[in-house]
Amino acid sequence: MSNGIVYLVGAGPGDPSLITLRGVECLRKADVVVYDYLANELLLNHAPQSAERIYAGKIGGRHNQGQDEINNVLVEKGREGKVVVRLKGGDSFVFGRGGEECEALRDAGIPFEVVPGVTAAVGASAYAGIPLTHRDITASVAFVTGQEGNEKNESNIDWERLSLGGGTVVFYMGVTNLRRNMARMMEHGRSPQTPVALIRWATTPRQQVLVGTLADIANLAEECGLKPPAVTIVGEVVSLREKLQWFNQRTLCGKKIIVTRAAEQAGEFSDKLAARGATVLECPTISLVEPDSWQLLDLAIRDLSGYDWLVLTSGNAVRYFFNRLKSLGLDARALAGCRICAVGPKTADEIRQFGIKPDLVPRDYKAEGIVEVFSRLDLRNSRVLYPRADKARDIIPRELQRLGAHLDSPVAYRNIVPERLPPETLFALEKRSVDCITFTSSSTVQNLAAMLGEELMLDMLKGVVVASIGPITSKSCRELGLKVDIEPAEHSLDAMTEALETHFK
Ligand code: SAH
Repeated sequence: MSNGIVYLVGAGPGDPSLITLRGVECLRKADVVVYDYLANELLLNHAPQSAERIYAGKIGGRHNQGQDEINNVLVEKGREGKVVVRLKGGDSFVFGRGGEECEALRDAGIPFEVVPGVTAAVGASAYAGIPLTHRDITASVAFVTGQEGNEKNESNIDWERLSLGGGTVVFYMGVTNLRRNMARMMEHGRSPQTPVALIRWATTPRQQVLVGTLADIANLAEECGLKPPAVTIVGEVVSLREKLQWFNQRTLCGKKIIVTRAAEQAGEFSDKLAARGATVLECPTISLVEPDSWQLLDLAIRDLSGYDWLVLTSGNAVRYFFNRLKSLGLDARALAGCRICAVGPKTADEIRQFGIKPDLVPRDYKAEGIVEVFSRLDLRNSRVLYPRADKARDIIPRELQRLGAHLDSPVAYRNIVPERLPPETLFALEKRSVDCITFTSSSTVQNLAAMLGEELMLDMLKGVVVASIGPITSKSCRELGLKVDIEPAEHSLDAMTEALETHFK
């Protein structure tokens, strides 16, 4: 007996966070994933690196002939003892041919399980603000294929009941036959004034919603060239959208924004922007790597009891410093006799993660801020350790020395410039579809100039809103010929996010 099993997993309608926990569990243990055109590719990241990924669209060209071959692949892989995930857009049992796949697996004696997904009608309903049922409006809803009657002469759909029943009707695969299907509903007695919504790429940043009536929606769709995939919702409930829509209302909805932070740091900022509806393109302009040699830092770490102060100015410095401490077989106790200064609340939080409470957290997080705070303490003859990036500004060491400190500033990590931009970011810039680029430090803008060349950068950023986190970064922008459009009063990611919202209001 082999342990092969096939999970039919509904991937949800598009937004990659709309898969179920059970679906993610199955992906995590998959040996093989057979995925669909409509399943968001980001979901494949839940599967192990080593899992085989098979794009079902490539199995046997056309739709209908393809299905047998897909069934065969599922059966074969199951028979080999593999854990197979068949990942489908929406739900497998709603216009997903999941029934046929299960039959083939049952016939072949391969065990299977079905994991439900958020089907397109339900996803579109939620993200367009159109409840499918409503106590005061309608108590029934039908999911109908828009393709029925294409190849056969007779349609299996009871158009009269569908039209006169008064319930909400959701058409799947209904864009090409939109005119015909709307006409049928009117012919069978539904009022031409019945509201209709077309929702394309529901739940994704590309979501488009078009609202009309049974009488005019086909013309409207033609005028704006609306293409599949879209669902069509027919019924009085559509008029609730005016009051209930929220998705396209978000403050940065539809804005394409480039985040230039290092990959390790981008997530937090990207999440804030995405939560407000922006499409975020990550474009790391900094990679963090180990120093050329650990010698100086190691020397300092082994002698920690001899220092009065440890100064850490960024989350990166914290992580590299503590990781090195750990590599040398030490832990937080090695810092027992040493006071710790964290520049900025984020750095302080990172230090707390290692079980240590910083003694001093200057409120102003620029180098100048920390010099100010130290100038009020007596630093004469004290020993200060300042693990830093290789290209850090030298204002801290210089000023602390001026205050009488003996300072060691070993390199804890290096910032290097990546060779190229991620292809999707470059593509968006070339297509001129980017609304805004954000710079969160001088090096982000300087490195971008180094990656693209100054001239090409200026050209590509023509018409793109430039947001800079603070005066020093703005100065670096101007030195490279960029005009800064947004600079928040406070130099934090939250303030930057707010400034973007205000700008695009
Ligand atoms: N099993 C899928 C349906 C597949 S049939 C499900 O449960 O959702 C393909 C049709 O689904 C498309 O023609 C379109 O009508 C609809 N569809 C799928 N994803 C969609 C999306 N993100 N937005 C709008 N319609 C979608």
